[in-house]
Amino acid sequence: LRRMSMAKNSETVKVVVRCRPINKKEETMNHEKIVEVDVRLGQVTVRNPKAQPGAIMKTFRFDAVYDMASSQNDLYDYTCKPLVDSVLLGFNGTIFAYGQTGTGKTHTMQGLPTDPEKRGVIPNSFHHIFTHISRSQNQRYLVRVSYIEIYQEEIRDLLCKDNNKKLELKENSESGVYVKDLLSVVTKSIEEIEHVMNLGNQSRSVGFTKMNERSSRSHAIFIVTIECSETGLDGEDHIRVGKLNMVDLAGSERQSKTGVKGKRFKEATKINLSLSALGNVISALVDGTSTHIPYRDSKLTRLLQDSLGGNSKTVMIATIGPASCHYEETITTLRYANRAK
Ligand code: ADP
Ligand code: MG
Repeated sequence: LRRMSMAKNSETVKVVVRCRPINKKEETMNHEKIVEVDVRLGQVTVRNPKAQPGAIMKTFRFDAVYDMASSQNDLYDYTCKPLVDSVLLGFNGTIFAYGQTGTGKTHTMQGLPTDPEKRGVIPNSFHHIFTHISRSQNQRYLVRVSYIEIYQEEIRDLLCKDNNKKLELKENSESGVYVKDLLSVVTKSIEEIEHVMNLGNQSRSVGFTKMNERSSRSHAIFIVTIECSETGLDGEDHIRVGKLNMVDLAGSERQSKTGVKGKRFKEATKINLSLSALGNVISALVDGTSTHIPYRDSKLTRLLQDSLGGNSKTVMIATIGPASCHYEETITTLRYANRAK
């Protein structure tokens, strides 16, 4: 029985790993490359740089792995496209980028939106969705966009001019969990939806001197709702609605180092809270035997409740770096991803 439910859930939750190339800084500092990616076997092997050569290797297996030469298009086509196809059919789906700051979460989710080879998951989904719509014949589509940031368990609307306003999570029997007063913008083309994304990205950085610090400590959730109506043979209109959430998570690096006190400490524990709550929800879903899925433990998991589990599909893209200096964080990320599997 357990095996059957696992098989079922392994189709709805996919976990993949992507390793970025070694960067200039790591190269000049002579950091060794300790990560091997075997694309064919779907395996990542990490060598402990402190151990004797060849001594301690750890191997992890995933639904797919992407090495430093992997292209944005490969990752989209193989790992994300099936999920977006199911959203176009009226199901919900969520794509996460998880990993230490500097390992490629934003590169993977955004990339260079204007370059067809370098654009990431979010702009690739725009092309996919609007190409699908332009080819459809008997359906009418309505595409709406919202863009949210969660920072220290507070929700902000990245599309609202007054983006310092904190929004509330509400719940009712009709709509389930929703964000009160959240803007939702209708977009009719690739250009329009890209424009809205750019506005949100700008608003994420405005007013904060240390933009990188903020973006590495907050979750950005880009939400595309696709409504499709079709006149059935009975002459009635049938409407189906699918929701696609694309999430650039806060950096997973350990925040609560000794000596961090006060405000910073509180912030650190809150960031860890939503990432660990997400890990708990996903592993409970994958396990398939849990009767209680702990959605309520964080804003992030509550907000995404209707898109995690049930008929929804989930993709977790864990990003890592190849250099020896990040050994501990790399192992921590792979363990987290492995548990979600
Ligand atoms: P994060 O969002 O996880 O903090 P970034 O996406 O900002 O990390 O990536 C850090 C740097 O590494 C950026 O300069 C980015 O362009 C580069 N980078 C990340 N992943 C890749 C990749 N797969 N291929 C090439 N460059 C990458
Ligand atoms: Mg980033």
